[in-house]
Amino acid sequence: MLISFYGVRGSTAAPGPSTVKYGGNTSCVHVELDNGHDLVFDAGTGIRLLGKQLAKKRTPANILMSHGHWDHVQGYPFFDPIYQPDRDINVYISIPSGRKLLCSLFEQMDGVTFPVNAEDLPSNNICKFKGIESELYERAGVRVIKRKLNHPGGGVAYRIDDDGVSVAYVTDNELDPPGEPATSFDQWAEYLHGVDVLIHDAQYTDDDMPHKHGWGHSLIGDVRRLATDAEVGALVMFHHDPDRSDGELDEIQRENEIYLKSHRAPAQSVCAAEGMQLRLERPVRRGKTRIRVEG
Ligand SMILES: [Zn+2]
Ligand SMILES: [Zn+2]
Repeated sequence: MLISFYGVRGSTAAPGPSTVKYGGNTSCVHVELDNGHDLVFDAGTGIRLLGKQLAKKRTPANILMSHGHWDHVQGYPFFDPIYQPDRDINVYISIPSGRKLLCSLFEQMDGVTFPVNAEDLPSNNICKFKGIESELYERAGVRVIKRKLNHPGGGVAYRIDDDGVSVAYVTDNELDPPGEPATSFDQWAEYLHGVDVLIHDAQYTDDDMPHKHGWGHSLIGDVRRLATDAEVGALVMFHHDPDRSDGELDEIQRENEIYLKSHRAPAQSVCAAEGMQLRLERPVRRGKTRIRVEG
């Protein structure tokens, strides 16, 4: 399994001199399975560059949407495969407000907000509201388990297990929300237990609170605690605040390493950066998955 990061920023794109190292594009992560199948998590502005790669293939692109906020849909009109005649693009939408999410993906292409009209696209955009688990198992041999996000408007997290290696994509999730959570901290720890790579929303620092409590994003300290409790193989801090500079993320990375070393898990932690790749190699016989950071 190869995991590639094309957009790691939250809320809105944030290009500029202070975000050169980690990148300014919004959420998009590509997972290439060993059998060549492509899974794409979210269609933020990062999906534009991924589209250049996927346009070289003819196999279906599978897009798994977490939710419909604009930082997760804005890149879709710039995704090259949608302009390829008869290219199959499966868009999986697994939340109750799915039809609205569908609208946010395609209604932005109405000739007014964007010059090309969605109805004129030559590709086959196939939207699926349920059955992702059985379909992806039949199509690609992967197991998909979902959980509800703690996020305004709702959303869904995905855990993918593919023949001995695993990744979880949990963004736009507040681990300690006000009121009743859709998924509790303990439920997250159970769901994520032992996952090789946990990609988790880590947008806020203590300085952001209490002002941003309830906005649907996690405190970095809570994410570290979850990764430790769930005994994940590697933690990837994701959905960086648009105001977070490269220097601040470097400092967060240093704090992560100190915290995680003193709590004996997980094996690795990184702040997500555009262009970063993680290669997961399944263990020979029993043992730990090898996780190599590339790029
Ligand atoms: Zn977001
Ligand atoms: Zn959101």
